[in-house]
Amino acid sequence: MEDIDFGKRDKRGNWKPNYKVTPNPKYIIPFEPLKLLKHIVGWNGYIFPWAFIWASVAVICWFFFTPPLEQMRNFELGWITYILVRNAIVVFLYAGFFHLHFFVQKSQGWNFKYNTKPLENNNSKFLFQNQTKDNLVYVFLSAIPIWTAYEVITYWLFANSFIPMIDWNLYPVYCAVLFFLVPTIRDIHFYLVHRFLHWPPLYKIGHKVHHNNTNPGPWSGLAMHPIEHTLYFTGIIFHWIIPSHPLIAMWHIFHAGLAPHAGHSGYDKMIFKNGKHLDIGAYDHYLHHKYFECNYGGGNFGWLDKWFGTLHDGSEEAHEKTLQRLKNKSYL
Ligand SMILES: [Zn+2]
Ligand SMILES: [Zn+2]
Repeated sequence: MEDIDFGKRDKRGNWKPNYKVTPNPKYIIPFEPLKLLKHIVGWNGYIFPWAFIWASVAVICWFFFTPPLEQMRNFELGWITYILVRNAIVVFLYAGFFHLHFFVQKSQGWNFKYNTKPLENNNSKFLFQNQTKDNLVYVFLSAIPIWTAYEVITYWLFANSFIPMIDWNLYPVYCAVLFFLVPTIRDIHFYLVHRFLHWPPLYKIGHKVHHNNTNPGPWSGLAMHPIEHTLYFTGIIFHWIIPSHPLIAMWHIFHAGLAPHAGHSGYDKMIFKNGKHLDIGAYDHYLHHKYFECNYGGGNFGWLDKWFGTLHDGSEEAHEKTLQRLKNKSYL
């Protein structure tokens, strides 16, 4: 499987897929219910494979690696540390898997990479002048503790009945619908937070750290300034306001913690040694890292970019418009 059959690589090594970036969920406008259903349950759609993988990790962690709610009525170092270490291990194994495949074993070379540049080593904009070390510091010393803090507070609120908890047995449909909607809710929240992060003062203090990664790698996904992490993980607060269940709240924050890694790998497809492959298809966010003023949304709800005129679909026309917007931004 070769990238030249799925796109074009120019002389500078930049690869562009043949597909156009179209806003998800597809088939909403114009509304085509059967195709929408196929998008929801079919391969490379709303659920399979990525959301299914992340939700499975969350469910496994809830049933096997989360203390019982009664134990979380009081803030105690023991169970809080357990959740912190658990989250660190999950991210280490998950993001590490992509880093190992693409950048340590170099299993597929530049095949399906959006450019032919290695991760940076010897650039003063990164801590220790090294992109991977810089990213690891922000992931493990900021992302994981802040994610864990939100998760711990949420369990504590549920355990003490400070927020309403819905019983899966009494309201299975409500719980299932809410669980199903988590990726959409999260990506709408991400769009709003992300636009706010591009407000010049906040960009300069916070979001710039993430954007130092113009050629991102898997660890860049959660490599953000603590201010950005504090905003990024606020999606879980949704479950403090509407009636929910700790598992659904946990799935929400796990989605935030797991979704970015593959999407920041810089590759459009992951090719395995047995010839099988997984579509990553994060060209939209790659363009955001390259051109800043486009594609603010998460993968599941691109309509906000479309409606606000910030969608870069890969076409020349969209490219010109993005460059025009970029010219007017003096903060970058
Ligand atoms: Zn990013
Ligand atoms: Zn940004």
